[in-house]
Amino acid sequence: RLSNRLKAVASFVDEGAVVADIGSDHAYLPCFLIHTKKVKGAVAGEVAKGPFESAVKNVRREGFSDAITVRLADGLFAIEENDAVDTVTIAGMGGPLIATILESGKDRLSQVKRIIAQPNIYSRAIREWAVSNGWKIIKEHILKEDGKIYEIIVMEKGQAVYEELELMAGPLLLTSKTDVFIEKWESELSEWNRVLDSLEKTIETEAIKTKKVQLARHIALVRK
Ligand code: SAM
Repeated sequence: RLSNRLKAVASFVDEGAVVADIGSDHAYLPCFLIHTKKVKGAVAGEVAKGPFESAVKNVRREGFSDAITVRLADGLFAIEENDAVDTVTIAGMGGPLIATILESGKDRLSQVKRIIAQPNIYSRAIREWAVSNGWKIIKEHILKEDGKIYEIIVMEKGQAVYEELELMAGPLLLTSKTDVFIEKWESELSEWNRVLDSLEKTIETEAIKTKKVQLARHIALVRK
């Protein structure tokens, strides 16, 4: 059974797409997309030998070796021109790692129409990468599974400008403000306050007081 997190990622893949799933691990996502006949074909890219072998094994066991090409490669270098990949999924990593992978392999994105990123933390890094590289956010989603909160950012080519708060919390997530979204920012706030409180015990500085006021203002804006 595929996790709700990866099912949500799959829901943003267009019918008939050709997908490259980067950091595919067991290749669960491409197998699901082929099994449900949602995509025409897929590439599963993995940089680590163990996960690569597990992807090869799973694809073979499911009988999908014709539809899914598994490649041992760093990031977007798993994509080759003849693959005709039009959609990239990249899930289950930190935002900064996803942004680094997108940046270092961006030459491989010329035929790609949509990127679906699911960062576990610090999604801001991906939004900043998008703004600097001519991608705009067309959809965002937030969900909670097994006590953890995940964000999904869907990007297509285009130019966008986001304000500070939008980069941090997500321009589209801010327009809907679901319960999970509020929960995420309430818990970020209390986590940061906890850190600042413990710092305050040892050093009482103006900078910490200012940061606390700033954080309270941010969360007030998020709640609004
Ligand atoms: N995408 C799956 C998911 O969301 O469940 C697996 C996530 S797993 C936590 C992260 C995977 O990304 C690991 O298998 C790791 O080897 C792979 N990975 C990390 N850096 C990578 C890179 N530069 N290129 C390709 N794969 C990478």
